[in-house]
Amino acid sequence: MNRNRRRIAIVGAGIVGVTLAWHLARRGAAVTLIDGGQPGSGCTGRAFGWLNVAHGQPEPLRALRHLATHEWRRLQRELGERLEIDWCGALTWTSDPADAERLVRDHAAAGYDVRLMERDELAAREPNLIALPEVAAFSPLEGGIDAGAMTAVIAQAACQAGATARFDCAAEGLKTAGGRVTGVRTAQGTVAADAVVLAAGTATPALAMGLGPVLPVEASPALLLRFHAPRRLIHTILNGPAVEMRDGGPGELRAAEDFGPSADADAIARETLAAIGRTLRGAEDVTVASAQVGQRPMPADGLPIIGFMPQVEGLYIAAMQAAVILAPTVARMMTAELLDDIPVAMLEELRPGRAAA
Ligand SMILES: Cc1cc2nc3c(=O)[nH]c(=O)nc-3n(C[C@H](O)[C@H](O)[C@H](O)COP(=O)(O)OP(=O)(O)OC[C@H]3O[C@@H](n4cnc5c(N)ncnc54)[C@H](O)[C@@H]3O)c2cc1C
Repeated sequence: MNRNRRRIAIVGAGIVGVTLAWHLARRGAAVTLIDGGQPGSGCTGRAFGWLNVAHGQPEPLRALRHLATHEWRRLQRELGERLEIDWCGALTWTSDPADAERLVRDHAAAGYDVRLMERDELAAREPNLIALPEVAAFSPLEGGIDAGAMTAVIAQAACQAGATARFDCAAEGLKTAGGRVTGVRTAQGTVAADAVVLAAGTATPALAMGLGPVLPVEASPALLLRFHAPRRLIHTILNGPAVEMRDGGPGELRAAEDFGPSADADAIARETLAAIGRTLRGAEDVTVASAQVGQRPMPADGLPIIGFMPQVEGLYIAAMQAAVILAPTVARMMTAELLDDIPVAMLEELRPGRAAA
């Protein structure tokens, strides 16, 4: 069989599914992208969207994240202006200047482009910051993306490259025969496939149920807050002690917060609004627009689960947290595995067998 004409069904049109669909389709694979809703309507549509390399991670996640902003820039070159990313850089600080100094030292040693920014330069860059830190770590390569909207753009590009869309079409289960996967059962009939990729976020373990050990992926809630902001107040992604926020495009400021089991989204929105008011000059007119909880697909050990299920030939898993950052990087690697039968060394420690064990 011409490997590039492999029929590959992807269940899930979140950021992982659509970037994979794009890479596979432009290589000539016969891709069907299936989603129970519309592209980006899962967790991706509630992501903060910080394309971020500057945080300590265990290997091989560190290495993957190191590639992430470069891979997003590559995808932007491939898709052109329709893929909008605000490459505004990010500032991180705490109340202790030693934290920013440590972050810069550690990440510079690992090859990241991160440097210290001192008070004068911070004041010029972010004139609305009320309490300027002595120093902050500045990551110039990082940026922000409206992950939900851009997922729709990438899905459209994948379809223009030849992928078939089956949206508003929930997968009900997988078809197998003789130890291999043969397709996806949906409410609208079966999609026949030589390989099936489960990129269905928190629904991935249920779809893989009975086809190997249970995949240890839990739903981990986090809160996306959108604020009406009549004018642009910040120019960089700000990760300070009181609030993590970024400009969300005309008239909007975004923030992300943790969300515990008994948390109250509206109360957190009010508290975050108050923190914004204490942090920025000119925030008097900022008001809460929405508070939405997203369920992040969180593998038990925090590392992505990527690769073929050993028990069922042709069944491939792609479940990860921080998928907005990682998607273009891992999608290119997954494409090599799915179309060229090339196992990617960097993914070896992330296999489903490892996670299930
Ligand atoms: C508040 C918040 C802030 C975040 N900030 C960041 C950040 O700054 N950077 C970052 O990298 N990550 C961030 N994340 C995490 C990120 O959003 C997730 O890691 C990512 O969206 C997961 O993408 P996915 O494609 O795997 O899953 P999803 O986006 O959840 O996509 C899965 C898709 O599968 C579909 N589906 C499910 N079941 C079925 C079925 N049976 N049949 C067909 N389709 C199905 C769903 O409809 C959905 O569209 C944040 C998350 C939250 C909530």
